[in-house]
Amino acid sequence: MRILLTNDDGINAPGLKVLEDIARAFSDDIWVVAPAEEQSGAGHSLTITKPLRLRKHDERRYSVTGTPSDAVIMAVRHLMKDCPPDIILSGVNRGANLADDVTYSGTVSAAMEGAISGFSSIAFSQVYASEGMGDSVPFACAQGWGEKVLRPLLALPASQRRLININFPAMEPDAVKGVKVARQGFHEADRTKVITGTDPRGYDYYWYVLGHSKSTQAGTDLEAIAEGYVSVTPLHFDLTHHSAMATIANAYDGKENQPERLNASLDPLP
Ligand code: MN
Repeated sequence: MRILLTNDDGINAPGLKVLEDIARAFSDDIWVVAPAEEQSGAGHSLTITKPLRLRKHDERRYSVTGTPSDAVIMAVRHLMKDCPPDIILSGVNRGANLADDVTYSGTVSAAMEGAISGFSSIAFSQVYASEGMGDSVPFACAQGWGEKVLRPLLALPASQRRLININFPAMEPDAVKGVKVARQGFHEADRTKVITGTDPRGYDYYWYVLGHSKSTQAGTDLEAIAEGYVSVTPLHFDLTHHSAMATIANAYDGKENQPERLNASLDPLP
């Protein structure tokens, strides 16, 4: 089995080494193609306005001066074009990627890019207990549970576009209650803070902080993590709000909601 590893914390991140150890339990054919610098919060962004640079560190180890999605494309469309991976693993991220944070996450987006490109992909993230831990975030839970949570997924029949988001709770492995397959939750809408200050040169700066969520809706990844489980969430790309289709269509079809200008722009082309 050929495994491609990537992340959003960069080629030198401690979590990538943790992921490599997890992957080595299953294969010696490990490739690493990761961003040269930290790209946390990069989401699914793609570099198309400037060139990328590729650095070879070893026979199967490369860094890319771009986003996590750039790294995955570099791997599957260029470096591994003739020897594609059987699976793509992303992480282990330093910090949670739970609930609607998957839309910001470079870690999940790398896996998303992998799945869009036709490869079964899994994102891994290690939740930590408090802000300001820097590189002292413990990965003990990911180390203790990584192989256990990955093995059943690797035993599934191969499936293109399979995308799984895994989070490890902030606790010692022995304290973890088990694995819970949970749906994606939602954070509180107002949890993002804007921290302001003045830099040493006298200019104001603004720094966004995603606060820890208190939300623990039943059956969600947030609840699973809060209760001490490893959360496993299958994701898909259809963002359509299916149950809202009729209501929205009605807003345009109904007599009182039929401005000509808007309708014209929504008509299908002949
Ligand atoms: Mn990150």
